[in-house]
Amino acid sequence: MTIDLHKLALETIDAAADHLHLDGWHRALLHRPERLTAVQVPYTADDGSVHVVPGYRVAHSTARGPAKGGTRFHPDVTQEEVTGLATLMSVKTALMNLPLGGGKGGITVDPKGLSETELESLTRSYTRSIAANIGPDLDVPAPDVNTDARHMDWIADEYGRVTGRPCPGVVTGKSLTAGGSLGRDTATAAGCRTVVRASAERLGLPTDARVVIQGFGNAGAHLATMLAADGMRVVAVSDSRGGIHDPNGLDIPAVIETKATHGSVTHHAGEIVTTEELLALPCDVLIPAALEGAIEAPEAEQVQARLIAEAANGPCTSQADRILADRGITVIPDVLASAGGVTVSCFEWQQNERGERWTAHQVAERLDARMDRALEDLWRVASERDLTLRTAACVLGVGRIVEALDRRELAATDELAS
Ligand code: NAD
Repeated sequence: MTIDLHKLALETIDAAADHLHLDGWHRALLHRPERLTAVQVPYTADDGSVHVVPGYRVAHSTARGPAKGGTRFHPDVTQEEVTGLATLMSVKTALMNLPLGGGKGGITVDPKGLSETELESLTRSYTRSIAANIGPDLDVPAPDVNTDARHMDWIADEYGRVTGRPCPGVVTGKSLTAGGSLGRDTATAAGCRTVVRASAERLGLPTDARVVIQGFGNAGAHLATMLAADGMRVVAVSDSRGGIHDPNGLDIPAVIETKATHGSVTHHAGEIVTTEELLALPCDVLIPAALEGAIEAPEAEQVQARLIAEAANGPCTSQADRILADRGITVIPDVLASAGGVTVSCFEWQQNERGERWTAHQVAERLDARMDRALEDLWRVASERDLTLRTAACVLGVGRIVEALDRRELAATDELAS
């Protein structure tokens, strides 16, 4: 199912705004982005022809620091989608208490049909088009759907050419040689693992809790490896072709090898299950790590897990979320469970700005500390206000943005009065 991400973002803001009794001007600022850049991006194809596609960069909020968020290349990218995603990034960075705001960018293009040189031409052209509105103190892009370290290296290089000086801190998710951070590849999984372990302990789940993971890509496969190494039993995993189930626990390194060799986890030994069956399997922890809108109302009725950790962005629809809450199933919301990536992106930006290089151990330790602190904050606010973790996350994140907006307005008022 495709989720209307702009609608979801506005619902997130409104849920928090009601609890925080926000007035009109706060709501107006939160509902609309601070800056919206819509550009036409020309690029040269390998046959010499020139094509033009629409591109966007949205800074939703810089009240707490430079805007931060990924860049997606996808035929379905729209201004509304990018704006919704930028809004959710503001909530995520605030919840994680990072010195950053929220942003997002994208190009409406199908990159699957483009060669490497066409992709480079497109990415460099996009960078020139938005160069005036990005920068380490302004708005810092990162990878998202269909973009990776190659694209980020091109953006950093092109931005340096436009501005006349090298500036690695303009983007994160770069290759290590271009100033990337150690630990960025596994950051989303590592962050999710920390909150899953801590929440499982809170809920009194067994140390060998049964885990089901939907999606076996960057987030899902790393997470499966980490949780299995921690002693949890990963009893089922899936990819776009289906899933496999073994109630005694799968041999995750062997499943990774099978997927690398045959292209899908379904070639591995175990009972084959469909995506719907996978979500309804007996387990303690369910981790959607694939798609937006993967858990709708009918699936929510069938879930047997006591804990859901949203490694994917927006995997539960609003209706599913209400059903899960009524059924007493704890959901660690995406703004926390998938925040490891942006947290290590923030570390990369800090290292670039300070000219530092942190070790993998330093990155892992600082990530763990951030995730633990954010989870503690979430449980505290949820219990003090009798909220679900998702609503508590909105209240905390939006509350922090509002504090920063108030500080900014107060400073402006003081300046005028003096
Ligand atoms: P990926 O492309 O590496 O992996 C996605 C996986 O989902 C693949 O294994 C794919 O086969 C599988 N999949 C697709 N359709 C499926 C279906 N119908 N049923 C089961 N599996 C299906 O992507 P990723 O980077 O792992 O991201 C996964 C999710 O996590 C996305 O929602 C993404 O936005 C979110 N996320 C990722 C990061 C990150 O750093 N990678 C950060 C934050 C959030």
